[in-house]
Amino acid sequence: MKGRKQCESKAMYWFISPGLKKQHACKNHMRGLLSAARGKEVEIPFGELEAGVKRRCGKMVKVGGRNE
Ligand SMILES: [Zn+2]
Repeated sequence: MKGRKQCESKAMYWFISPGLKKQHACKNHMRGLLSAARGKEVEIPFGELEAGVKRRCGKMVKVGGRNE
């Protein structure tokens, strides 16, 4: 099935999106977000989640295609 679904990785970071909403991201997605932000010269406030906080990454991934 092609489409998009929520990333199944465990979130390790929180960040504030440009819409000023707090979101969660896994290690890979956080790295991607930060390098994209750097390219646009945008600053994204972020930090590590405390140990014991169980969250799923809120980013979407493509299904049926290449993994990012
Ligand atoms: Zn993710």
